[in-house]
Amino acid sequence: MKKNLFIAFEGIDGSGKSTQVKLLTVRLEEAGHKVYATFEPTGSPMGRIIRDMFNHRMEGDHRTIAALFVADRLHHLLESSTGMLRKLEEGYTVITDRYYFSSYAYHGVHVDIDWVIQANSLSAGLLRPDLNIFIDISPEVSMERLKKSREAIEMYETYDNLNKVRAKYLEAFEQLKEVERICVVEGDRSPEAIAGEVWETVRRYDAT
Ligand code: ADP
Repeated sequence: MKKNLFIAFEGIDGSGKSTQVKLLTVRLEEAGHKVYATFEPTGSPMGRIIRDMFNHRMEGDHRTIAALFVADRLHHLLESSTGMLRKLEEGYTVITDRYYFSSYAYHGVHVDIDWVIQANSLSAGLLRPDLNIFIDISPEVSMERLKKSREAIEMYETYDNLNKVRAKYLEAFEQLKEVERICVVEGDRSPEAIAGEVWETVRRYDAT
């Protein structure tokens, strides 16, 4: 690849993001790239509070959670040794499992989406993904996968909510299509088929 890219995977819960982050990491490393794979919410104290709120260990209003994500994301970008900006400077291709479109979609269901976009504008100003890869699955498929793979269902993981979140993703993509590079990948296929399309998309982007 000509330069080290920043790639964000997006999708509703169970869409296969973390599976695809791993598969893309392997392909990039095989092609000789240094890869830093990461995720949000992060492992920072702010990320831990967010997880406690998701798991109902701690009370958390949707507005509070939306604001915590803003701070956690800035930390994810700016932390001096493992922050994404530092990793890009060091020549890593950075792949994140969720970035600001997750906030637009998940918080946009509860809070005015324009507020969410504005609240994340510092992050967008610091670093826009070269590619936002949205793995699209229906809420039905998501719920089936989550029932199989999770011990407990978290705050956002109901059919009704995931349906709304998916719609908010599509709304946000439409709203921001002039400034963001968005690629929608059909997710109800084998992990290998999805990974093949993702790899082609990354290579095509790199050739432009
Ligand atoms: P996410 O990170 O988007 O929540 P995961 O990659 O953790 O999704 O996948 C959720 C569950 O679905 C896991 O049990 C995973 O093994 C399974 N899974 C991932 N991709 C696929 C796929 N393409 N088809 C079927 N099951 C999948």
